[in-house]
Amino acid sequence: MAKGPQNQAALAGVRDSIYCNLIMKSKIAGWGLYPAIEAEVDEARYVEELVRLARSGLPQLAQGNCRSYGDACIYTRVVSTLLLEHLLNFDPVRGVLRAQAGITLDSLLRFSVPRGFFLPVTPGTKFPTLGGCIAADVHGKNHHREGTLGRFVDELEMVLADGSQVRCSRREHPELFRATLGGMGLTGFIYAATLRLKPITSSYMQVRTVRTGDFAEACQLMSQTREEYLYSVAWIDCLARGRHLGRSLVMLGNHAPASRSASLALHSPRQRLVPFHLPEFALNPWSVRAFNTLFYHRHWRRDRQDLVHYDPYFYPLDALSHWNRIYGRAGFLQYQFVLPFAGGLELMREILGRIAARGAASFLAVLKTFGPEEEGLLSFPLPGYTLALDFPLQGGRIIPFLLELNKLITTAGGRIYLAKDAILEESDFVAMYPRLEEFRAVKRHYDPHNQFRSCQSDRLGLR
Ligand SMILES: Cc1cc2nc3c(=O)[nH]c(=O)nc-3n(C[C@H](O)[C@H](O)[C@H](O)COP(=O)(O)OP(=O)(O)OC[C@H]3O[C@@H](n4cnc5c(N)ncnc54)[C@H](O)[C@@H]3O)c2cc1C
Repeated sequence: MAKGPQNQAALAGVRDSIYCNLIMKSKIAGWGLYPAIEAEVDEARYVEELVRLARSGLPQLAQGNCRSYGDACIYTRVVSTLLLEHLLNFDPVRGVLRAQAGITLDSLLRFSVPRGFFLPVTPGTKFPTLGGCIAADVHGKNHHREGTLGRFVDELEMVLADGSQVRCSRREHPELFRATLGGMGLTGFIYAATLRLKPITSSYMQVRTVRTGDFAEACQLMSQTREEYLYSVAWIDCLARGRHLGRSLVMLGNHAPASRSASLALHSPRQRLVPFHLPEFALNPWSVRAFNTLFYHRHWRRDRQDLVHYDPYFYPLDALSHWNRIYGRAGFLQYQFVLPFAGGLELMREILGRIAARGAASFLAVLKTFGPEEEGLLSFPLPGYTLALDFPLQGGRIIPFLLELNKLITTAGGRIYLAKDAILEESDFVAMYPRLEEFRAVKRHYDPHNQFRSCQSDRLGLR
């Protein structure tokens, strides 16, 4: 795993403080590799460095492990938090830990799983940082039952634009707390967080996989089983058309109880590497259709039960290091939206139909259901269906198509996920996030000169 910006680029090498910070000029991008920009990259190892950087008054952005896809984690000056990677405290009885923001979920799991605790909410990769996950208020396959990660955060320790250090929680500075959960790094540096973990007795999952004939059947199954299974997700074959439109594999899961075959074993650090960027022609509607058909029919039994380690269940893509290279050097867009339950099924079907008709090769399409809205002012979830798809950039030809879909989603009362976005237009954003003015008021109070900003926040007029 690449750690710290020193692995990313050649060093311009400016030593500028008693802590020997290294400022580098580097090309940076999110996980989708689009857009990529030249930036000054600084790194922080101590809270004092965050204070000094904040006091500089320069426009800047905290950066985690760049697992957001678009331009939320990039700006012309970024501060990598990857060296703020320490666990500060752990209460083994309550399962509450306090850790610096740059620690990765991978490191948290390595610490907590052997002690009988799991992440309360996890995204589909274990390589983001704790700070990045709080800033995006990430959701997992259990949102319909347990909400986002923010619900399990008790306290944040922050460094604000004036260099002051504050704690915020549901009791202290609650408005700052609510704006920072899902606030995409725009309220200040998160230095550390206190998080409640989930007790487990084994690191295995009882998984039921069901092949469904179409999209409606998948949604119905997920809603019928919501009390029985804590986790649910559906993989959708986006290129299937006609009566197969939206055929899916629904994967339902619960933590398995302890047994001889289900211990507290950790995941393996081994990954296979995608060694170079594939040429653009490698992924086309035909190759993706062939892959999807094989994947769908591999599960030849319509309904099966398995005992599976948490790693392949939660993090299947982590098995391939740098899998984002399969879309070629130009990169790709991940597009994730949520639609309210009312009318959501019909519109989802229409959107899937348009994607299938266009043959817009989406390698991955993942469907989940969301429960209630969150306390984070810019948190993404609302009660409904959420779909995430990858689109190769195709020299930008895909963008007008997706902007058109954005209009449909806005009209239906849906939303685009900021952690995945690179192209949303300000007018749609304003309509999608009704608590935006409340967020703006908090930001103006704590960051009056708009010091914390990203390419995304500039594009969306988010100040
Ligand atoms: C394969 C894959 C699967 C994913 N699955 C999911 C999923 O299921 N659910 C989901 O919700 N997300 C998912 N994501 C998205 C990912 O979890 C989020 O984008 C997360 O924010 C990435 O964290 P990061 O540490 O890489 O942060 P970055 O991408 O580096 O930054 C993301 C945001 O966090 C801010 N930030 C980072 N650190 C700090 C800090 N210390 N203080 C203040 N702000 C900070 C940045 O400014 C930026 O706005 C997935 C991503 C990938 C690549």
